[in-house]
Parts: sequence; structure tokens; C-alpha cells
Amino acid sequence: MDAKAPITQDVLTIPRKLPEGPQNLIGLSRDQMREALIAAGTAEKQAKMRVGQIWQWIYHWGVRDFAEMTNLSKDYRTMLADTFVIALPEVVTRQVSDDGTRKYLVRIAGGHEVEVVYIPETDRGTLCISSQVGCTLTCSFCHTGTQKLVRNLTAAEIVGQVMVARDDLDEWPEPGTRNTQEARLLSNIVLMGMGEPLYNFENVRDAMKIAMDPEGISLSRRRITLSTSGVVPEIARTAQEIGCQLAVSFHGTTDEVRDRLVPINKRWPIADLLDALRAYPKVSNSERITFEYVMLDGVNDSDEDARRLIKLIDGIPAKINLIPFNEWPGAPYKRSSNNRIRAFAEIIYQAGYASPVRKPRGEDIMAACGQLKSATERARKSKAQIAQEAGL
Ligand code: SAH
Ligand code: SF4
Repeated sequence: MDAKAPITQDVLTIPRKLPEGPQNLIGLSRDQMREALIAAGTAEKQAKMRVGQIWQWIYHWGVRDFAEMTNLSKDYRTMLADTFVIALPEVVTRQVSDDGTRKYLVRIAGGHEVEVVYIPETDRGTLCISSQVGCTLTCSFCHTGTQKLVRNLTAAEIVGQVMVARDDLDEWPEPGTRNTQEARLLSNIVLMGMGEPLYNFENVRDAMKIAMDPEGISLSRRRITLSTSGVVPEIARTAQEIGCQLAVSFHGTTDEVRDRLVPINKRWPIADLLDALRAYPKVSNSERITFEYVMLDGVNDSDEDARRLIKLIDGIPAKINLIPFNEWPGAPYKRSSNNRIRAFAEIIYQAGYASPVRKPRGEDIMAACGQLKSATERARKSKAQIAQEAGL
């Protein structure tokens, strides 16, 4: 294959406004909601105020029924209920791990399913959300990358994952009261579920803007981390248009190895990626870039790799997150041994970098990175088996 051939994105994007039926208010930016309200007959002069009111009901208090929006007139509430819906992805299954990790399987339009994982820790609660069904990229260690079907999630489906998790955690403030910033159960978002977020840029951006809006869910941009495999042209845009934290799936210290692990490297090799990261405008010592590095036995885990990694990222304010490989059935790699991971981490630590090794969480419910496909497939398989056994 020509190394510079464009990577095609054979993905389906659902139009924001379905041609028929009521329009979903979830996922609209403030401007889009204003336009929608005006189109539905709201006076232009009042539209901004109405957006503010509706926004607060939906995103601050988590209200789903227009009838409960008591600072709007009865007629106006009726008009809203006749014209719009407040629709979220449907939670199909919910599993809670022994360690408190929660995994939700949610169904979106078209019957597709995506997984959302909530990881509680002592000082934070992180929600891992998906940006696509499947992924167009084919990283060789990632189970999501072996899934054929791909579709971009809409902004509503992306922010909807945050909303259904807040429902389950029962974390909407009582209507009329203010949200307290302290001790939030869902305090952080990571875009590290299924999909490459920078191949669905606009929807991810709009959804995260809603999650950050101070009149609503109100998460700080510092508490949102977008993980990319290295879509170089979109990296600067991420800083400008979203302003969140950035994580990069680095995983290899030579182009030869990274080409094999993260094939997008053929399009944008290590040097180009590092240039984009050096220029990432929000980077400072307080807001470092996270380098994710999956530890694969005998592939990228030598002492030499660790030293090369340090050299490569020299001058970039960075954290290095070592991820023990999560094995999946048929995976072509093995997880590095604990001793190897420790030795690798030590070299990085000696060079002055924090090098946390990501603790496996929710293993009993297969909630780990890179496994966000297998559970669904297993369920499908067993359904097929059931059908077979029943002679259907
Ligand atoms: N597409 C984006 C975000 C989703 S993947 C990206 O690639 O960055 C989130 C993280 O999980 C990435 O760092 C990815 O490389 C890692 N990952 C994927 N499969 C994994 C596996 N089987 N074991 C450990 N980490 C994995
Ligand atoms: Fe896609 Fe990320 Fe998996 Fe690569 S690691 S296939 S970019 S989800």
C-alpha cells in the first residue's frame, strides 16, 4: 500500500435533524437550539432566554419531561412537547464489577450498541465514552479495530453517554438548587472507548462543549481527556476548538514498529506527530500531554524502547501512561511480564517522568480498554447458540 495514501473514512453519519418526526434537543449547541426554537415559533427576542431556561432544565437538573419546566408557560411547554423530544441512548445492560467499575451497554439509532465504562477512584470518578461504533483504523492490538461496521456517533449520542451515567449515579441536583463542584461521582471524562474521536471531530467537539457549559453539566476542560491514535491535522484544532487535555496512543518508538501497531503512523509518522504535539497550544507543565504506551511482550517493551521514548518526547511536557496489554481471544500479542513493565517504568521514572502503570479495572466484567467489543460479540454469539440449540 502507498504509505501516503489517504485513509478513507467509510463511515455513516446520521443527519442531525431527521427528516420526519420531532427534533431531538439533546446534542444541539446553544445557537442550534435557538434556531430550532425560532423555527418552532418562538419570538426572536425571547429565544436566547428560552434557550437558557431549557438548557438549565436539561443539562443542569437532568429533567426529561417538558411538563416539569415550570418557569415556562403551560402553552409554551405544550408547544415544546409537540415539536421536540429529549432523547438519550437506551441502556440495554448494566454490569457492576467487584471493584465498583460500572459498564453500560447502550443502544443507539439503527440498533447499534456501544459500551460506556465508569471507573470510581478515591479522588475522582472517570467515565470512558465512545465516539464511534467500531473504528476505521486497524491498530493490530486493539479489538475495536477488528470490528467491521463503523458509524460516527452524533453529538447527542456522545453527550448522551454522560447523561445516562449521571442518571445511573443519581447525580443531577434537585431542580432549583445549584450543583456543587466538590465530590462529584462523575468528575472526569475520557474519550478512550470505541472509535477515533478525531475522525468524528465536529460531533465530539459539540458534545464536549455541552459537557463543559457552565450552565449545565459544567465539567472543566481540564477534566476531559481526548485520546487519539495520531490524526495529526486535527490535533491543533482540538486545542483551539475544544481545549481539552490530549492523550496520544504512542505505543512504538520506531516508525517500523509503530507502523505495525498503529497503522495511521504510515500516514503521519512519529516525527510529524511529535511536531504537532510540540505545537499543541495548551501544553504547559500543568497541562501535560499523556503518552499512552501499551506494553506488548517482546514487541515494544525493551530497555532500549524506554530510552528511545524518553529521547523522542524530550521537551514536551508529558506524562507516560503504561498500559498492560489487555489480551482478547485471538490477539496476536501477549502482555509484558510484571517485571518487564516495572523495569520499563523505572527507566522512565529515572528520567523524571511520572510513569503510572494503569491498573486493570473491572476485569471481571471485561471493562478494560481494547476489550470494548468482545462482550457484545460474546452476547451475540450466545444468542446465536441459543437459536441453534432451539432449532431455529
Ligand atoms: N482511538 C483512540 C481512543 C480509543 S482507544 C486511540 O486509539 O487513542 C483508548 C486507548 O486504549 C488507546 O491508547 C489504545 O491504544 C488502547 N488500547 C486499545 N486496545 C488495547 C488493548 N487490547 N490493551 C490495552 N490498551 C489498548
Ligand atoms: Fe481505533 Fe484507537 Fe483501537 Fe486504534 S486503538 S483501532 S484508533 S480505537
